[in-house]
Amino acid sequence: MTRNDPMPVADVAPPPRHVGRLILAPREAVACPDRDRIVGILSEAGFIADRIPDRECAYRVGAEFSALISFVGCAVAIASDPQAGDPFCHVVVPPASAHLRWCHGRNTRAPRCPGCRTRLSDWPLRVAQFEQSTRTHGWDRQDSSVVCPSCGESRPIWSWDWKQQGGFARLLIQVEEIFPGEAVPTEAFLDLLERESGCAWRYLYVQD
Ligand SMILES: [Zn+2]
Repeated sequence: MTRNDPMPVADVAPPPRHVGRLILAPREAVACPDRDRIVGILSEAGFIADRIPDRECAYRVGAEFSALISFVGCAVAIASDPQAGDPFCHVVVPPASAHLRWCHGRNTRAPRCPGCRTRLSDWPLRVAQFEQSTRTHGWDRQDSSVVCPSCGESRPIWSWDWKQQGGFARLLIQVEEIFPGEAVPTEAFLDLLERESGCAWRYLYVQD
């Protein structure tokens, strides 16, 4: 084969790129409300329906899903049936994690200092150090503090402003598959979660 030959065509098409997921998580990353309680809240609110067989911790969207999440822009057809392996809209509530989980994807960008808005350029290294230190010592505030190169303030890596492009959490509500910004939880839904779970919530998007 010479340099100019066309690439051989693979027998199997590559898997489609992950569109993205909407993640709801406590605003305080270290907060960890009871997972079963959260599932109960989501079920009572009609956000989720029954479990999807053979998929761990996955639920079909409930009757009130479209009232609790608003889709931005043109009308989006929500496929909610797991047929033929196509992407379909469903909700996953994984077990709570003992450690802070790093939620990130190809859309994750450098976080900003909440005090002076400076970007943390060496964030991949800082996150790697945090994860290493978590494995060795658990997630202790002193091990995880990062000093802002601009204003000198020190705060844990999970308290930097990751906007809606990443972050840390112990308990997540994941909505698959949602393109970043395509759908946002309504104020009423965030209020309901806060009222029933006892902690404020935020949301972000991750693309694998
Ligand atoms: Zn700063």
